[in-house]
Amino acid sequence: MLEVVQLEKKYKQTFAVQGVNMFLEKGEIVGLLGPNGAGKSTTISMLSSLVVPTAGDVKLLNESIIKNPRNIREILGVVPQEIALYPDLSAEENLRFFGEIYRLKGANLKKRINEVLEQIGLTDRRKDIVKTFSGGMKRRLNIGVALLHNPEMIIMDEPTVGIDPQSRNYILETVKKLNQERGLTVLYTSHYMEEVEFLCDRIYIMDKGSIIASGTKDELKNILSSENTISIKVERVKEEFINLLQADPTIRQVKAEEHGVTIIVPKEYNLFKKISQMAEEAETNLISIDVKSPTLEDVFLHLTGRALRDN
Ligand code: ADP
Ligand code: MG
Repeated sequence: MLEVVQLEKKYKQTFAVQGVNMFLEKGEIVGLLGPNGAGKSTTISMLSSLVVPTAGDVKLLNESIIKNPRNIREILGVVPQEIALYPDLSAEENLRFFGEIYRLKGANLKKRINEVLEQIGLTDRRKDIVKTFSGGMKRRLNIGVALLHNPEMIIMDEPTVGIDPQSRNYILETVKKLNQERGLTVLYTSHYMEEVEFLCDRIYIMDKGSIIASGTKDELKNILSSENTISIKVERVKEEFINLLQADPTIRQVKAEEHGVTIIVPKEYNLFKKISQMAEEAETNLISIDVKSPTLEDVFLHLTGRALRDN
C-alpha cells in the first residue's frame, strides 16, 4: 500500500528525518513509536505531502506521491497531531465543512456524516458546539474528519495525547474496529508503547530521525537478551532461601525485595520445580512465581540506553 524509500528532511544543518525506509501492506496496523522529537510528525507530514522531503521517495500504491501528490487525497486520511477544528461550529457543521473540502456533496455527504458520527461515538452530540467538547471528544471529531471521505488508509499522529483514559480506550477500540471490519490500513504514531503494543501488527521504532528497529512485537522483544526476569513472591523473605538461590549456578542474579526475590535466568531454563524445592528446604511459603516478559519500553531502553518517556 505504502512504501517509503530513504526519506530525509533536513532543517538548516540538522536532520529531522534521515534514511527512513518503511512499508505498509494493505489491511495492516503499523506503529511508529518514538520519543518526542524523534521525527515522527516530520515523517508523517512528508507521507501526506504537507512537507517536501530533502531526499527520498514515498510511493502510494506504487506511485510516487512526491512527483504526483494529487492522487493521495482520495486514498489517504490524515489525523494531525494538532487539533484542526472550528471551535464555534457544531460537530456536524465541522464535518460538513471538511466534507465539502473533500468534494463530498448532498445525500452522500449527509450519509457519511451520519456514519462517521456513529463511528466516533458523537451522534448524540452532533448539534453541540465544538468549544464545549472535552479534549477527548475533539480528538474523536478530528479523527472523524479524516474518515469522512472513506479513505483506504489513515495516518494518525499521536491521537491520544492529553486526553482522559476513557476517550483513549474509545479511540483505540475504534481504530481496531475500523481495521477489522473495513480493512482500513493504519499508520499509528505514538510515544506510548502500550498503545502500539495493543494495536499494531508491526512496529517501527524511531529515534533521532532514524528507524532504529522494526518488526513484529515478538521480533522486537527478541532483540533483548536471552534472559528472563522471574519475580518470586513469598510470605516472608528468609536469608536461607536467598542463599540457596545464590548458590545455584544457573541463576545469574538474585535481588531480595520486601515481599520476595527477583532473579534472572537464561530464557530456556525452567526452574519452577527447583524454586519450590528451595522454598520448601528454607521453610518459606511461596505466594507466586511470575515470569516478567519484556515490554517495548525495555526494547527501547536496551537500544538507546534511555527511557521512551524521559523527555
Ligand atoms: P516528533 O513528532 O517525533 O516529536 P518532530 O518530527 O516533530 O518529532 O521533530 C523532529 C525534529 O525536527 C525535532 O528536533 C524538531 O525540533 C525538528 N523540527 C521539526 N519541524 C521543524 C521545522 N519546521 N523547522 C526546524 N526544525 C524542525
Ligand atoms: Mg510529533
